[in-house]
Amino acid sequence: MEELIHIKDKSFVPYISEQEIMDRVASLGAQLNQEYADKSPLMIVVLNGAFVFAADLARELTVNPEIQFIRISTYGDSMTSSKDAQLLLGLEVETEGKDVIIIEDIVETGFTVQYLIDNIRSHNPSSIKLVTLLFKPEKFEGGHKPDFVGFEIPSDFVVGYGLDYAQQGRELKALYQLKAD
Ligand code: 5GP
Ligand code: MG
Repeated sequence: MEELIHIKDKSFVPYISEQEIMDRVASLGAQLNQEYADKSPLMIVVLNGAFVFAADLARELTVNPEIQFIRISTYGDSMTSSKDAQLLLGLEVETEGKDVIIIEDIVETGFTVQYLIDNIRSHNPSSIKLVTLLFKPEKFEGGHKPDFVGFEIPSDFVVGYGLDYAQQGRELKALYQLKAD
């Protein structure tokens, strides 16, 4: 049975199950453990949306990561991307000489994360890689392409597993896709 989710004026249909997400997160973790085998990377988690993904991913890691959080604003409560990124919760994190792994929930145009990458790069990290649970390649406008992707998805709006619609739906264990009217 397809279980519809209702948030405010919208309905969402099941899209990627909890089990599929768990399996994919485990394999992303294994990839990162290989990539950073002899390093102790700095995970920078982009709030709010990436908090669930980051919590699950971090617990797959055996490479003793340092974990820090940052917040960028762009999206408001709407469902369209904005080109103006703004650092809200600043980068008090020391990134010089570190192997930085940025943890995002979703990359669409790429503007939000590019803003963060430019900011971090100016602080001379040893390396920067981008991990995102979801990537919408159709809308990507260039810049740093995600190095590790959980799922490539079409442009439709999704919620759940940390991602919100108007600040709701983040607690859902699976991912849901906006139902066409
Ligand atoms: P970008 O700057 O890459 O265009 O936008 C990325 C940001 O847009 C994400 O961090 C997220 O806040 C928001 N976003 C893009 N697509 C979706 C989506 O399908 N669902 C949700 N909840 N947020 C999205
Ligand atoms: Mg985000």
